[in-house]
Amino acid sequence: MRNLNKITVVGASLAGLRAVQSLRQEGFDGEITLVGAETHLPYNRPPLSKGLLRGDEDVLLPGAGELDDSWLRGRTAVHLDPASRTLTLDDGAELGYDGLVIATGARPRRMDAAHTLRTLEDSLALRAELRSGHEHVVVIGAGFVGGEVASTARELGLKVTLIDSGRYPMHAGLGDVAAAWLAGLHERGGVELVSGVRVSAVEDGRVLLADGRAIPAGLVVAGVGVVPNTSWLDGSGLALDDGVLVEDTLFARGSARIVAAGDVARWPHSRYGGATVRVEHWSNANEQGAAAARNLLLGPEESEPFTGVPSFATSVHGSRIQTAGLPHLADTATVVAGTPEEDRFAVAFSLGGELVGAVGVNAPKDLIRLKRAITAGQSIYDVQ
Ligand SMILES: Cc1cc2nc3c(=O)[nH]c(=O)nc-3n(C[C@H](O)[C@H](O)[C@H](O)COP(=O)(O)OP(=O)(O)OC[C@H]3O[C@@H](n4cnc5c(N)ncnc54)[C@H](O)[C@@H]3O)c2cc1C
Repeated sequence: MRNLNKITVVGASLAGLRAVQSLRQEGFDGEITLVGAETHLPYNRPPLSKGLLRGDEDVLLPGAGELDDSWLRGRTAVHLDPASRTLTLDDGAELGYDGLVIATGARPRRMDAAHTLRTLEDSLALRAELRSGHEHVVVIGAGFVGGEVASTARELGLKVTLIDSGRYPMHAGLGDVAAAWLAGLHERGGVELVSGVRVSAVEDGRVLLADGRAIPAGLVVAGVGVVPNTSWLDGSGLALDDGVLVEDTLFARGSARIVAAGDVARWPHSRYGGATVRVEHWSNANEQGAAAARNLLLGPEESEPFTGVPSFATSVHGSRIQTAGLPHLADTATVVAGTPEEDRFAVAFSLGGELVGAVGVNAPKDLIRLKRAITAGQSIYDVQ
């Protein structure tokens, strides 16, 4: 381990917490300062669109209560000067560091007059609205957050319209077969699906579509993607492009003291021919926070590349959809288990024969098998 005395972690959520835990597990006994814009103990975001909306309360991340390092809660980093190794906070305070972990995640794209869902406060506010007597909720964006909100609102007995600009929900991540099946699932779940059209405006009481239609809405929720939180790094000299650009070891380009992890990091994935990817999934932030911290302690020369296969799961209308790898890179999709008609199937995605991704619908064992095959670099012929 190289000689670092002071490490600062910016962002006190999943990737930041994992980084702090990993630093201690690896034996770092210097000073750690955690800077986090939120005031809560680090919590899990997946329940915000699922259990918490339904009424569950348990969202804390394991180990969140045991943080005994210096933790600056409710404080925001506003500037970074890598040359002097100084971080400036919102109140003007300056923090020096020997090593820095950037784990500032992402924030939702906002639409006027629509709820968004990223924080505990957002979820509690939406939970209250869902129970405040609205009969009809319009959800804009049928990605995983929008789909889960639609499903939960149906469980609560509300009329739901789900609007998406794509032909099928989550088409890029799931491919034709599973996305078409998901559209059918939403419809069977009582959701009115409006596909292939953009929203032009949200007004009080209605959502206007680009094709001229107006949909009456008591409550509007937007799940239209996220933007990585990098504005505090403007002027720092770090390479930024839809995230912090890092090497495959998670070191910021050109830096031996700064690493980034989680939703904010964009790195060249060696498993996918060095294509730069930014992954907005729980398991990625979980693994990358730990890996970035380990590499920071080792230094760029000794570091291991981060090659984790992305994976993701969502639950809608009682069905579990899981993905592994990057299905959107594929040139071929092959159903390798079950059928959409029986609501249980798995699809393998390949590029030039090599497996690059998988989708499982109510098929957890198949998904595990396919994820192992992707990790092992197998071809589509090995899993058919
Ligand atoms: C509603 C919802 C449901 C989800 N469901 C799933 C799911 O089912 N499966 C799945 O795989 N993934 C899911 N995700 C995605 C998953 O939660 C994220 O991938 C994960 O939270 C990323 O963790 P992170 O630590 O990189 O970033 P974040 O969780 O975004 O945390 C970043 C933290 O940094 C703080 N911060 C930002 N800027 C600054 C600054 N300048 N100074 C100090 N602090 C700062 C932020 O306030 C935040 O606390 C969901 C996300 C949401 C919002």
